[in-house]
This record gives sequence, C-alpha cells and structure tokens, in this order.
Amino acid sequence: MPSIQTQLVHAGEPRPRLEGAVVPAIFQSATFEDSGGGNYHDLKYIRLNNTPNHDILHQKLSVICGGEAALVTSSGMAAISTTLLALLNSGDHILAQNCLYGGTHGFLDSDAPSLGIGVDRIDAHRPESWREKMRPETRLVYVETITNPLIQVCELEAIVSFARENELLTVIDNTFASPINFRPLEIGFDVEIHSATKYLNGHSDIVAGAIIASHDLIAKIGLTLDHLGGCLDPHACFLMHRGMRTLSLRVDYQNHSAETLARRLVEHPGVERVHHPLIEGHPDQERARRLLRGCGGVFSFEPAGGIEIAERILRRLNLAVNAPSLGGVETLIGRPSAQSHAAIPAAERVQMGIEDHLLRIAVGIEDTEDLWEDLERALR
Ligand SMILES: *Cc1c(COP(=O)(O)O)cnc(C)c1O
Repeated sequence: MPSIQTQLVHAGEPRPRLEGAVVPAIFQSATFEDSGGGNYHDLKYIRLNNTPNHDILHQKLSVICGGEAALVTSSGMAAISTTLLALLNSGDHILAQNCLYGGTHGFLDSDAPSLGIGVDRIDAHRPESWREKMRPETRLVYVETITNPLIQVCELEAIVSFARENELLTVIDNTFASPINFRPLEIGFDVEIHSATKYLNGHSDIVAGAIIASHDLIAKIGLTLDHLGGCLDPHACFLMHRGMRTLSLRVDYQNHSAETLARRLVEHPGVERVHHPLIEGHPDQERARRLLRGCGGVFSFEPAGGIEIAERILRRLNLAVNAPSLGGVETLIGRPSAQSHAAIPAAERVQMGIEDHLLRIAVGIEDTEDLWEDLERALR
C-alpha cells in the first residue's frame, strides 16, 4: 500500500477523473437529481454530507487514519458534540480527561448535564485513579492526544486497555498530533476526531472538523449529524482537500522547526522553562517518543520576568502573530491565561501548571532561522 504522503495526494479521488480534471471540481449544488433508489439517505444533499466533495474527503481521511469510514463536519466542535450526542443517551455517564479544549470542556460542563449525561473528570496520567470514577452507567472515555497548553501526552495505551476491560467506547481528539504524528485507531481507539481547522486544512482559512471510525460507528454518528446539521459546505471541502494534500510536508517541517526552537529556548538565559515533550526533563518524554512521530508545531515556554515581560515579547515579535489557533502555515503565539484559559480562575490555573506568563507558540512553515531571529530579538 502506498505511503501516507502518497495517499494524501491521491486517495479518494474519482477515477476516471471527471472531465479529466487533475483537481476535483467544487460541486456547489445543494441538491442532486434523484437517481431513483427510493431511500431518503441515498439522495444527495449537502446536509446529508454525501456530495462528491464530501465523498473524496471521507475516503481520503479513512485511508490516512486507518479507519473504515469518516465524516467531515462544519467545525471541530460540530465533530465533538455530534459524536458525543450520537454515542450517549440520557442517563449515560462519561469519563473525560481533566484538561480538555475549552469548547469541549464547556459542552461537558453545561450541555451534557442538561441532557442527563453524567460527566466525571479523570487524571489521564494516573490509571490507578480511574476505577473509582466508574459507574454502572459509564459508557465512554474521552481524551486528547496532546493537551493544551502544557503539551502533555497522557497514558493513551492504558486508556485503551482500561476501556476494553470495562466495555467502554474510547474517543480521542487527535487535533494536536494530526494523523502524521499519531494514528489512534491503530492502538485501539474507537473514534478519532479532529478540528480540521488546524493541521488538516493547514492554512487558517476555514473552520472544519473530521471524525474517523468503524463503518457502524460512522453510520450512527452520521445520522445524528444529518439531524443536527453540522455539515461542511462543498467550497470548504475543496479547500480542506487542497490543504490535506500537503499535510505530511507541513507537519514534518513543523515537527522539526518547533523542536529546534524549543531546544534553543532551553539554552536561552531569558527563558525559565520550556514545555515540549520530546525535550529532556518533560515528564511524558518516554511515552511521547514511543507513540508519536513528532510533536507538531505547538509548544509553550515561560520567559523570565513575569507577565509584563511576556506581554512585551508578544508586542516585539514581527513574524509570529498574537492570535489563537494552530496548525497553519503562519506562526501564531499567545498567552493562554489571557486567551484560551482566561475563563478559569487564576488560582485553579496555577494549580493546573498554567502560569500567567506562559506563552504558547504554534510554529508555522516559515524558515526556522527567521523565526529564531525574531524570537531571539524579542527576548533580548
Ligand atoms: C480548535 C480545537 C477544537 C475546536 O475546533 P473548531 O474547528 O474551532 O470548532 C477542538 N479540539 C482541539 C484540540 C482544538 O485545538
């Protein structure tokens, strides 16, 4: 079977090529002529996620992630909320990692309980603490491959074996790793989710999501997606597909560039601490090396001198843009305690290890030396 890099370019594309077009066209048509099968779900309609632009992405995602089937959605949050609403009923209970993406955290804190779904948090680094959180109605465990902003890699293999022992479904948000650095279905996770807004699309110009799993699970989640309506528009499908073709080139470069910058920051006198799991001293280093091809473009660091200095560094940077998000071609940087984690009370944040002067950088594909010059000058 061809490698992932080759599959990213070719998998899922129609053969014979439509009108010979090397790049699949955009089918910007809400509805399609009835082919006469008599089944509602066979009718092609954008909300049913079954137009030619959806089909190409679904096949490409299944191939590169090693799943049986896939779905694209209108955002990462649509992928997450639709998956959980499809797999859980009122009265069910889920175990969720205690430091998830803010939107997921919000969904589990407010929407899930109002629908009668019970949620308990687990420390995904401490397998011995999981059993006491189990209830007879526990159905699912939810984790992220790499957490934000401390870039931790939890006990992913233990999560899979714990779930198997207890007949629970496992859902993992693999956004920060991308399928280049980690393929969770290969180690036994049931459902892989992405915010395709990030690495998969890679150009910060659309919001999209992806879900990859078995035929049966995708059929179930797909029905809920049809009902909730979080479909991806064909034009956004086209852009996501174009972005995915260069995924492995971008992520390999970002892996290397971010690690190089992180190692230089470790040596820099103006930096107190660097959080990058492939660097000596990170508590998850051994697991990250074993499970991941690389750690992507995101890492974080604490400059010496506190908030005032951190804010001055942000203002002095010329290349890195002070903005949330990650996985694009341009480097973004921000201060999580003022942005993604601002809603969490300060004392709780510090307890989680997120200092007020922590800066998170999402390295793009600019030349590493230019980024270093910019960072080094701002630090000076
Ligand atoms: C951005 C992000 C999301 C949400 O994705 P949207 O496309 O913004 O809806 C979910 N999980 C992680 C880890 C993210 O980084």
